[in-house]
Amino acid sequence: METITLANLIDGKLAAPASGAHLDVFEPATGKVYACCPDSDARDVEAAVAAAQRAAPAWAALSAGERAKHLHRLADAIEARLGELAREESRDSGKPVNLARSVDIPRAVANLRFFAEAITQWPGESHVDVRAVNVTLRQALGVVGCISPWNLPLYLFTWKIAPALAAGNTVVAKPSEITPFTAFRLSELAIECGFPPGVLNIVHGLGPKVGQAIVEHPKIKAVSFTGSTRTGAFIAETASRQFKKVSLEMGGKNPAIVFADADLSDANLDTIVRSGFSNQGEICLCGSRLLVERSIYGEFKRRYLDKVKALRVGDPNDADSNLGALVSKPHFEKVMGCIARAREEGGTILTGGNPVKLHGRCADGWFIAPTVIEGLPQDCATNREEIFGPVVTLIPFDSEDEAVAIANGTDYGLAASVWTRDLARAHRISEHIDFGIVWVNCWMLRDLRTPFGGVKHSGMGREGGVDALRFFTEPKNVCIAT
Ligand code: NAD
Repeated sequence: METITLANLIDGKLAAPASGAHLDVFEPATGKVYACCPDSDARDVEAAVAAAQRAAPAWAALSAGERAKHLHRLADAIEARLGELAREESRDSGKPVNLARSVDIPRAVANLRFFAEAITQWPGESHVDVRAVNVTLRQALGVVGCISPWNLPLYLFTWKIAPALAAGNTVVAKPSEITPFTAFRLSELAIECGFPPGVLNIVHGLGPKVGQAIVEHPKIKAVSFTGSTRTGAFIAETASRQFKKVSLEMGGKNPAIVFADADLSDANLDTIVRSGFSNQGEICLCGSRLLVERSIYGEFKRRYLDKVKALRVGDPNDADSNLGALVSKPHFEKVMGCIARAREEGGTILTGGNPVKLHGRCADGWFIAPTVIEGLPQDCATNREEIFGPVVTLIPFDSEDEAVAIANGTDYGLAASVWTRDLARAHRISEHIDFGIVWVNCWMLRDLRTPFGGVKHSGMGREGGVDALRFFTEPKNVCIAT
């Protein structure tokens, strides 16, 4: 099979990397190389920044409505290719094509539309007293950097690019080198939609080369990053030396807390299962620690395991596959290593724990059975560290206080879900757990206007709604004496 060669988007044109070198891109479901993406370096970032600088004044000078039109056009172009892009996203990442079709690609469209509308509706701030009128301008920063991970490729890429552009910045963006395909398609669509050259630049390549060059570039005024805590720490350190704004969305070790009084209807139990295994557990919001009140632990476990065992791991192209392949061989090996460590720590594997061997075209893919483990101390590595795969641990608890203590017993603090019919308890727990997002009797129910992000080692700053627009602008207060 001939491989597809991807290119950077710089100054409105597709461009090969300065190095002339490329990186292999694998299809996780088959384990085979199907494309190659630019192995770019600081020279390509330099060219992208120069183009973005040239484009910045005119882009910032457009009315909010004009910028919104560009974003809507891009959203239209994505929407018109929903099926195609969903298949491409699935091929690149291993996720079921149905998931890409129902979640990833529609969400990319929604991101662009949401910020197109948000920027035209953003109210200004003014403060008036008898002496003066204070008007706060929110000015674009200039050139900004957006760096995104592999788990929700186009979804998270557009989640950053859309507010940055809407607010009047020009962008140098880097998708994950592991899943570059839909970002490349976005480049083609931006050209097709007539995006002004230099407004959106996409540079492919490795984190330590391209990502680092973006973070270190003195003309890039802010960096919005989603990825691992380790990379986030490096970015925070580097950016702070230049007093650069950073927004960091990082890892998680999220709890789902189920109380005995919860409405455990079939539908809710399905959501709890989904919260652990959706996208093979490769969503930063997945609940990988399932805390269950001891009085219902046995019955809950039985029903939960029945549902997990019914999940089908299969070819991502098959409509009835619930889980596809893990994103890469190294990640597959990492997750299998975590399962081995859980065994060593004394955990009992209740289901899964093994790779899944498929036949036919997926014989060499990186599949792992949905895995449920119990019997681990809450402070072991398995229960504290992010695994980012289809692995959930079951943890019984006896009281509200204990549930809170277990939930908080990790360095991470991204998202939690709480399952209870008791509204007062839902409030108490929400107040006392250290997470940026709490879902009560639901999971991953998203309203794009809300602040999105984590605390502790999971994040710094918030994305979404007005928070994203604030991040991508600088306030300037103008005080006019009356
Ligand atoms: P990663 O940190 O390895 O990579 C993320 C991005 O950063 C990639 O584009 C990568 O090339 C780039 N990068 C790597 N090294 C860099 C460097 N030195 N300088 C600049 N950029 C660099 O993360 P990943 O493995 O792609 O993604 C998985 C992680 O992302 C998980 O920890 C997951 O929890 C997290 N995540 C968090 C959220 C959230 O909203 N909090 C959402 C999705 C994923």
